[in-house]
Amino acid sequence: MRIAWLRGRRRWWSAAVVVGLFGSLLVSACASPPAGASPAAVSPPQAAVASKYVILTFDDGPSQYTPQVLALLRQYGVKATFFELGQNVARYPAITHRVRAAGHSVQNHSWSHPDLRYVSWTKFRSEVLDTDRVIRAQTGITPHCLRPPYGGANALTYRRAASLGKKLRLWTVDPEDWSRPGTSTIVRRVLSKVHNGSVILLHDGGGNRSQTVAALPTILRTLKSRGYTFYTTTCT
Ligand code: ZN
Repeated sequence: MRIAWLRGRRRWWSAAVVVGLFGSLLVSACASPPAGASPAAVSPPQAAVASKYVILTFDDGPSQYTPQVLALLRQYGVKATFFELGQNVARYPAITHRVRAAGHSVQNHSWSHPDLRYVSWTKFRSEVLDTDRVIRAQTGITPHCLRPPYGGANALTYRRAASLGKKLRLWTVDPEDWSRPGTSTIVRRVLSKVHNGSVILLHDGGGNRSQTVAALPTILRTLKSRGYTFYTTTCT
């Protein structure tokens, strides 16, 4: 039930982001970030930027699948950004510790995955700050990126996030791996849509992620062979 609802939301948002690739004005109209806010999706690193790069992100973890993801990232020498749920960090704190110890970026994806456009300020605050607290306990670092569940970003969420010292970070390539469309479909969707500067959305939590894990070797190997550098994002 939740998935069906979520699918509709995600499709709407993905369409907005894809269209936005061809016109940032339209993204602004859809997402309504306030003036001066960061663009919705892409956050190129501040320092020297490689000629070709992608930002690989994993949402909804940590989970029992995260160690498999970590092993593959290590095998291919790739760093990624993990947008974790506070409730899952509380359940698997040692895995969050391992993610950071392996050199990846650990960022905030709320505590319980609500659509942050429709929660009270009190709820918004606790979703974000409680997640900060458990991530900080395992990594020693306070996240500065917030990925709103379902891509639920509007002027209010941008403003509330900013008041907590957070920048919203979305994505540009969404293979919908969470819906388990099959390993080869996940691979094809990523590799057909990726381009320089893409922010790729995958999931290491929120359900059975064996297809995502199985898709990773081909995705990583192919992107490396195409000459992409992998950056992480910290929103600082
Ligand atoms: Zn999520």
